Amino acid sequence: PVLGLDEGRTYRLGIMGGTFDPIHNGHLVAAEQAFDDLRLDLVVFMPAGRPAFKLDKRVTSGEERFAMTLLATADNPHFVASRFEIDREGVTYTADTLRLLRELYPDNVEFYFITGADAITEIVSWRDAADIARLAHLVAATRPGYDLDRAWDAIAASGLEFDVTYLSVPALAISSSYLRERVEAGQSLRYLTPDQVTGYLHKHGLYGAPRNRYGHTG
Ligand code: ATP
Ligand code: MG
Repeated sequence: PVLGLDEGRTYRLGIMGGTFDPIHNGHLVAAEQAFDDLRLDLVVFMPAGRPAFKLDKRVTSGEERFAMTLLATADNPHFVASRFEIDREGVTYTADTLRLLRELYPDNVEFYFITGADAITEIVSWRDAADIARLAHLVAATRPGYDLDRAWDAIAASGLEFDVTYLSVPALAISSSYLRERVEAGQSLRYLTPDQVTGYLHKHGLYGAPRNRYGHTG
């Protein structure tokens, strides 16, 4: 049971994909809001194996990104952390993930792929975008200062029939890059990501975090 779902019932299943390097409160708040607004049964956090768009960048190991994702989601009864993508070899494509999940759950699960609105403008050019449109509803969380017109235009221009629900997520300009910069600068991550995540990344010396401190400076 890849996601531990019950075959005997139907699900409205959120899938929160991302690199999660590291996971932060922006991801968690967006997922929680999608859960509420779209009346989802569960949100599965799926750290990407080898993210297609970050092949040129240094990315923390899947195992470590998964561990942080697990820690961040552990206390929420309707959040699940999944190894599905990190356990697959090679580059991870969302369309492959959705096709594999559809084979596993042919008719009892409706997929809601949750993503930032910034990613929506790009999703039309992702590999097998037409399959993504066919297999999942999209939930686009707007980031502060983001103009939705670009997302609308990109989808309209693609000619693909994406079913997109736009969610306005309360002001959260948090990004993983911002967290990594803060760690490198010796600044605290408090209130930006759960403390368990901060503890883990210090313990493992990720992003240049000193191993002898528990997430605070000085
Ligand atoms: P990076 O800064 O390294 O690009 P990131 O913060 O964008 O990291 P990702 O793992 O790349 O995190 O993003 C995973 C998904 O979460 C993407 O769909 C992204 O658009 C969305 N997302 C990221 N940050 C937020 C946020 N603060 N609010 C809502 N959605 C977000
Ligand atoms: Mg990003």
